[in-house]
Parts: sequence; structure tokens; C-alpha cells
Amino acid sequence: MQPRICPNCSSERNIKSGIINNRQRYKCKDCNYNFTVNKLGKKIDDYYVNKALQLYLEGLTYREIERILGISHVTILNWVKKYNIKRPYKTDYHPTYKILNPQELSEYFKNPKNLSGAGVLVTELGDKFMLIKWERFKD
Ligand SMILES: [Zn+2]
Repeated sequence: MQPRICPNCSSERNIKSGIINNRQRYKCKDCNYNFTVNKLGKKIDDYYVNKALQLYLEGLTYREIERILGISHVTILNWVKKYNIKRPYKTDYHPTYKILNPQELSEYFKNPKNLSGAGVLVTELGDKFMLIKWERFKD
């Protein structure tokens, strides 16, 4: 369970404060700000906007990002437009990626063969990790 964080002051100290439009409302004990879980949902959205744009910049296609994050490629396209994200065209390599849990991630890094001749970037993805690998000099 994620702690409910006050959108106003980021405090985790809050109490239930009634139901509004079928959503539980909370009151921050530190700043008295009222918020519903819906506001926390917005925060999670921001997390996925960042991840989606990051993946887009790494060279993944809209469809690939859709598969990884479970977000519609139309939504991702809209974010790319909204934030005016541009990436260079015609790169001569395409990254491959894997979704790994922490255990699999440590196994992956134990094998030197997985690392030679490739750059690897690891980014958090919910409770798993995504590993993006470039093989630039592959024929
Ligand atoms: Zn607060």
C-alpha cells in the first residue's frame, strides 16, 4: 500500500474526512488541505508521462511503449505533441529492451556476455525494472 501523500505539502499524515462524489476524501493533518484519492491518481499519471516520454526518446515506437506501460499509443502520441518532444530521425540502431524483476536483473548483470559491446540503461518501472540495451555496432 502506498501512503497517501498530501498534494499540497507532501505530508503522509492525514485522516479520512468524508466521501465526495464516491471518492474517499482525506484531510492533511499538517496543512489541513482536503484531497481525494483522485489527486494521488494524477501523481501516478505524471510518473507514466515521464516514463512514456523517456522510452520515446530512447527510440521505442508508440506501439512498443503501449505494450510496456499499458497506455494507449494515442495517449502517448498526445503527450509527445503536448510536450513538443522531438527525437533525431534515422538512427542506425534500435534499442532492445527487457522487463526484469530485481532477481532477474541481478542475474543479468552477473553474465559478462550480456554487457560486452552494448550500453545498458536501467529504469524503474512499477515494481520491476526495464533494461534498455543498445547494440550499435551490430551488423
Ligand atoms: Zn498537507
